[in-house]
Amino acid sequence: MRIPEGEQNRTEGGSLSARRLPLARHVRSARSWILLGVLAPIGMLVLSAIMLLELRRDAWDKAEQTSQNLLQVIERDIARNVEILDLSLQGVVDNLKAEGLAGISPSLRRIALFDRAATARDMGVMLVVDENGDSTIDASSNTARRINNADRTYFQAHKMQANLGLHISRPLISRLINEPVIVLSRRIDKPDGRFGGVVLASLKLSYFSGLFARIGLGREGGINLYLRDGTRVMRYPFAEGDIGANIAGAPTFQNFVAKRDGSFTGTSVRDGIERYYTFTQVGDLPLVLNVALGTREIEAEWREKATIIGLAVLVLCGLTVLLSLLFGRELRRSAAMQAELARLAQTDVLTGLPNRRRFETVFAQSWETSRRTGAPLALILIDADHFKRYNDRYGHAVGDAVLKGLAECLRASVCRPGDLVARIGGEEFAVLLPGTDHDGATRIAETIHRTVAGFAVPSAGIAPRTVTVSLGLAVHSGTGTAEDLYRRADAALYEAKAGGRNQTRFAA
Ligand code: GH3
Ligand code: MG
Ligand code: MG
Repeated sequence: MRIPEGEQNRTEGGSLSARRLPLARHVRSARSWILLGVLAPIGMLVLSAIMLLELRRDAWDKAEQTSQNLLQVIERDIARNVEILDLSLQGVVDNLKAEGLAGISPSLRRIALFDRAATARDMGVMLVVDENGDSTIDASSNTARRINNADRTYFQAHKMQANLGLHISRPLISRLINEPVIVLSRRIDKPDGRFGGVVLASLKLSYFSGLFARIGLGREGGINLYLRDGTRVMRYPFAEGDIGANIAGAPTFQNFVAKRDGSFTGTSVRDGIERYYTFTQVGDLPLVLNVALGTREIEAEWREKATIIGLAVLVLCGLTVLLSLLFGRELRRSAAMQAELARLAQTDVLTGLPNRRRFETVFAQSWETSRRTGAPLALILIDADHFKRYNDRYGHAVGDAVLKGLAECLRASVCRPGDLVARIGGEEFAVLLPGTDHDGATRIAETIHRTVAGFAVPSAGIAPRTVTVSLGLAVHSGTGTAEDLYRRADAALYEAKAGGRNQTRFAA
């Protein structure tokens, strides 16, 4: 008997589990893996969501930057050209006051009044008309082409109001060149301050369409130039019907005139498309310019990327969850298998009772508990009488059946959950009774004899009372070692055998 070894095992096992790293325990835990399988995908999803939002922000930043740059370039070009024309108009107004102008020849007068701006590429005509609207001086010919512009709104406006300054007309078809133009005009005052006519320069709308057309803005993008009264001067992409249309009532236009410049996202009244608008007033002129990008197009590239990344992340998350679940399940399975193996390693195959190894472990633990608490611990060693004879007479199979029957009898003879019945040798058994004193153990011993007496194997002709057992009983009394207790029970068993078998002997 190597009882202290069992004790040694126990203490070693205890210190080992105490020393086991917490990390290692988590790695082996199915729950940890399942938790990881949930947390990792959540982390992945959060990270990719942040990344995608960041990419979307980048797309918008790029769009904002592009719009802003375009707007500035176009605005400067228009402002500068209009300024050059206006300076020419102001020059005409001033030079008309020069003394002796009426006396010089028409060709000299042309040179004196008009500068080179009159010959610019997108210039229509440059004319002086008198207070009746009749053309009097023409920048491009010594004899003015005959025309009357008294009906034009810019003529009426200057006639009505003295200090209008530069007037920019709505788009109209020039009567002289038969092309769509806007007319820039300034009032001419007579020496006494009365209305003396108008000097005008017409700018071809082809100037704007040429300027805008060089810019790529996507299919939903557009550039618009409006008068402050809401009249559209030009739009890119060009459509005849857009020119001259008035959108003063549209919510987008309210934004354009609310501030000098800015940006906003709005839906176009023209086609219902949502766009990102960047707008500015052109110089100090009554003109509003905007660059509009379709929001769908701004996000199109991002959306494509987001779809691919999103799908990839979802698939990865799915795989992670699946693998974690599978891994967790495998861990659980292997833990269950290990537990089963551990149980089998401690179980006797023939009888299903705990084996000697298990008995040694439990005996050492129970003895230690008894020593510590002072509670009694009873040990009964049981040996089948003349067992060899059953094998010899009936064969090994019947011998096995008798052993199984004996195991059942012993199992049936104890009742407390803490009691242990074990097969510790060929036809030797042990019953360990924690918290049981001499009297209690004696009663159990009697029960064992009685139960075994009732056992029979009718098929083999083994009648009741044929199978008998000898018992050696010892109770831990507070002194000695576990080995002593076992030795005393063993000695008592020997006495029972010597005393004629089928009886119980108590250790001294
Ligand atoms: P005693 O009354 O003195 O104990 O006599 P005994 O014959 O029971 O004792 P002994 O130790 O001489 O013989 C035990 C026998 O138990 C020997 C062996 O054949 C038999 N035995 C041990 N294990 C098994 C087993 O698993 N199955 C079977 N059928 N027989 C076994
Ligand atoms: Mg024996
Ligand atoms: Mg025997």
